[in-house]
Amino acid sequence: VTSGIKLTALWLRRAKSAVVFTGAGISTESGIPDFRSPGGVWSKYRTVYFDEFCESPAARHEYWAQKTEAHVEFAAAEPNTGHRTIAKWEAQDRIRGVITQNIDGLHKLAGSQDVLELHGTAREVSCLDCNARFPVDPFVEQFRATSVVPPCPDCREGRLKHATVSFGQMLPEQTLHRAQRWCEEADLVISVGSSLVVYPAAGLPELAKRRGAKLVIINRDETGLDAIADMLIEGSCGEALEAIDAAL
Ligand code: NAD
Ligand code: ZN
Repeated sequence: VTSGIKLTALWLRRAKSAVVFTGAGISTESGIPDFRSPGGVWSKYRTVYFDEFCESPAARHEYWAQKTEAHVEFAAAEPNTGHRTIAKWEAQDRIRGVITQNIDGLHKLAGSQDVLELHGTAREVSCLDCNARFPVDPFVEQFRATSVVPPCPDCREGRLKHATVSFGQMLPEQTLHRAQRWCEEADLVISVGSSLVVYPAAGLPELAKRRGAKLVIINRDETGLDAIADMLIEGSCGEALEAIDAAL
């Protein structure tokens, strides 16, 4: 592990276009359960697919009830040392930015500027009918108080949904395109806390690797891309990032 940390630090020092790619594992140290751990809010609910949300008022109510309960966890969470280290690397011009699958907004709260949120953000709602966007908090409070799905304040009748990507929903196109460009141009990708099995997101580090980037994977369990990684660092995301930072 020590030599892996040192070599990664060396690669990061030399990189001209490094990118950090993150998954749910970087936020478990902030108290947000990842997808696969039992007991988290994620494993408790039936999945409401995007089509159902669009078509059925009952599905919209179910969705809002789930998101309102899950909101407590997000609202209380704070960035951890892993998020802060990544923000620091961007400020020092060591990385171009961070591509994340997370919807918790913790990279931005940690001070990262260029964050590509592939799966959107749970800190906002957006109207499916007029595209207006609003901070999520007042709407969650409204739903909690009334148990009525809030309509869009702008167009009055529009369907408000958390600005996250649901199953069956397209990824935000511009964000995905920027992420692809970053990966095509990258000479180093450090993947942190992702199982690298959710597509199309996991295709991004793969793309970078195909275009000649080095791929470092920091994760405590196996991932879908271990076989093509140049370096595997097994362990805690926060500790590994701190150790790399200390070796820079
Ligand atoms: P994942 O749950 O599939 O994988 C997370 C990986 O991180 C696992 O392999 C796990 O072993 C590892 N891990 C967990 N805690 C760790 C730690 N402290 N140190 C090192 N490794 C750790 O996550 P994913 O790849 O991001 O895919 C899950 C999907 O669910 C994503 O699409 C994401 O949008 C969504 N999701 C988001 C959040 C969030 O925003 N925080 C949380 C759960 C799920
Ligand atoms: Zn609207």
